[in-house]
Amino acid sequence: MYALAGVGHTAAMPPTPTLDRSLRSSGIELRPEIPLCQTDLPLDWYQQEFRPYAEEYLALPDRTPESVLPWMDAYVLPALDALGDSVMLLAHYYMGGEIVKLVERYGGRVADSYQLALQATAHPEKKIFVESAVHFMAEAIALLASPDQQVWITNPKSGCTMEMMAKEFMLSPAFERLHGRYGDDLLVVAYMNTSGRVKALAGRTGGAVCTSSNAGRIMRWALDQGRKIFFVPDQHLGRNVAAQVGMDPGRVALLGGGHAGAELEPAELSALDSADLFLWGSFCGVHTVFEPRHVDYWRGRGYRIVVHPETPREVVEMADGAGSTSYLWDHVMDAPAGSRFAVATEGHFVANLREQSALRGVEVVHLADVPDGDDAGCGCATMSRNDPPHLVATLDLLRRGEAPDLNRVLPGDAVDEVTGWRERLDPEGRERVRQEARLALERMIEITES
Ligand code: SF4
Repeated sequence: MYALAGVGHTAAMPPTPTLDRSLRSSGIELRPEIPLCQTDLPLDWYQQEFRPYAEEYLALPDRTPESVLPWMDAYVLPALDALGDSVMLLAHYYMGGEIVKLVERYGGRVADSYQLALQATAHPEKKIFVESAVHFMAEAIALLASPDQQVWITNPKSGCTMEMMAKEFMLSPAFERLHGRYGDDLLVVAYMNTSGRVKALAGRTGGAVCTSSNAGRIMRWALDQGRKIFFVPDQHLGRNVAAQVGMDPGRVALLGGGHAGAELEPAELSALDSADLFLWGSFCGVHTVFEPRHVDYWRGRGYRIVVHPETPREVVEMADGAGSTSYLWDHVMDAPAGSRFAVATEGHFVANLREQSALRGVEVVHLADVPDGDDAGCGCATMSRNDPPHLVATLDLLRRGEAPDLNRVLPGDAVDEVTGWRERLDPEGRERVRQEARLALERMIEITES
């Protein structure tokens, strides 16, 4: 179990995390009366090969488990039978509750991005990983996989908007300028929410990958290197972790970022000389809806406030605790009956947590769900593009040996999440990205588990 907190105002330094690599059940129960449909996707959003499955799904009468499960069983059970023990189904906690429940129903596992990334190495006997989550998570598994292990994503249009504002071609001009000025004094720390190509950039500079569960440890390690740090892509996580490790906010510089990039003219560069930490300007739209007034509202009603560190600094400073997805889940699920929490993170996750903690007598609300809030309860829409027809179709097409190449995830792929198109590197380029990104990932694992 994870126990990593400590960005909130009541917590001092975080306790040493205790790591358990096994993926336990989320404990989420599939109950017959709960509707299974997520937000329906338009038919033309499905790949050609997937449309027949989507049409069947959309024609199901009510889409509660009574109708959806027999339809899914007819495809999934023969596929699992044919693929045998070599297949492993994975999903991220932020997936709509339906996919989380369905993946577990078919023997799959639900985890956060750090745990997901470790699955190929943790399970060398598994040869086919089918992932219901966003592209960077699937690629992280592929980066650490051995050559006889394959990674598939159920929907190639499923991307992280934060990562989509920090593609390699957006970051490179700023990196080149910084590297030109600081040379080997510059080290890149790449959040897990980056492509393999950006993780490779971190590896090339002797840097590391981090996740929200280990960002404090990685930042302390980076500071110990005595070099300037370029932290990509999330400005809010970067700022929160800098505060957690005691950095002077005056020595933290925010670069541009996002689709516009950050050109960094020479005059701007010299102004950066006094900074120790450069933050890329990306952010997560889901985690930036939270405001101090939301904290005031729920605290005034007796709720404890726990938040994810992709949330803006002013909210994290007011919170009772802050930490990764696993921290939030465990903290609430382990609380005594009668506890009440307002949770600031992705909406599907909070909905699942609310449902499950209610069974234990613990009440959960979404922090932005206040009466005058017009921005409450935002879920990760891009992650939820992995719906039941995508899972069914991927498994059935794999069984038939007809799974589209667009769904196969290889190291170094550059994905256009609007069209689902992916640009593959040639074998030499792919191997270079794999090796360099692995350096950064393995450095993270070594620091985290030391
Ligand atoms: S919730 Fe935000 S950071 Fe997480 S995958 Fe979705 S867009 Fe990316």
